Amino acid sequence: MKVQVLGNFGSRSPGHYTTALLLNDTFAVDAGTVALMLPIDQQARVDDVLLTHAHLDHVADLPFLVDNVFVSRSTPIRVWGPPQVLDVVHKHFFNNQVYPDFTVIPPGKPAIRLCPLVAGEVAEIAGLKIAWVEMNHTVYAAGYCISDGDATILVSGDTTTTEALWRMGHTAVNLKLAFVETSFPNDMAALATLSGHLTPALLKEELAKLDRPEVPALISHIKPQFREQIHRELHELGLPQVSILTGGEEFNL
Ligand SMILES: [Zn+2]
Ligand SMILES: [Zn+2]
Repeated sequence: MKVQVLGNFGSRSPGHYTTALLLNDTFAVDAGTVALMLPIDQQARVDDVLLTHAHLDHVADLPFLVDNVFVSRSTPIRVWGPPQVLDVVHKHFFNNQVYPDFTVIPPGKPAIRLCPLVAGEVAEIAGLKIAWVEMNHTVYAAGYCISDGDATILVSGDTTTTEALWRMGHTAVNLKLAFVETSFPNDMAALATLSGHLTPALLKEELAKLDRPEVPALISHIKPQFREQIHRELHELGLPQVSILTGGEEFNL
């Protein structure tokens, strides 16, 4: 499995791009930054977009991705996620108000197809097995284990303290990487919990639940204005499995 980090921050500022991964050149996990990072010919190769949730920092580039490639593509981009997430995307983004409803246009050849995931079922998409659980966020959000049979990655999306994701990750076969959010510094734990996020101290407790110290935990979704403090606090955890994404990484698993 090829994994590219297109965006890995919890907000945008110069050099800081919001959340998206690209798997095997064709499968995006979240779409916070896709159109901004890939040339248009590479955008046209994205067949599937899997969403953790509908917050803007995870879907911001989806309308621009669709707009950039719908003429050149012969098939719709499939947008996957829990039905609650897709409903928000349809109702509040592709609603002919904020942006065209690309689920029905162009007529007869719509640019996107919304594909709801079924709770409790493992989906098979583009040669990948997608297992998912609901996360503990302020809106309906999913966390994923994504496997190509040889390698599995865990993607937390946005979450505060939770259980089901770590149970799923603990037993995941061939788990190679865990992409885990940490948004706020330790002295903002109250806000982190209220807004459905983690701090470095909370991250440590969560990784203890995962109980896979051999699996690198790659930290994303840092709020740029707290970057230095969060980096310092993550280093102070003294956990060898923790490393911090800076953007643009590529992993071949
Ligand atoms: Zn969120
Ligand atoms: Zn977010």
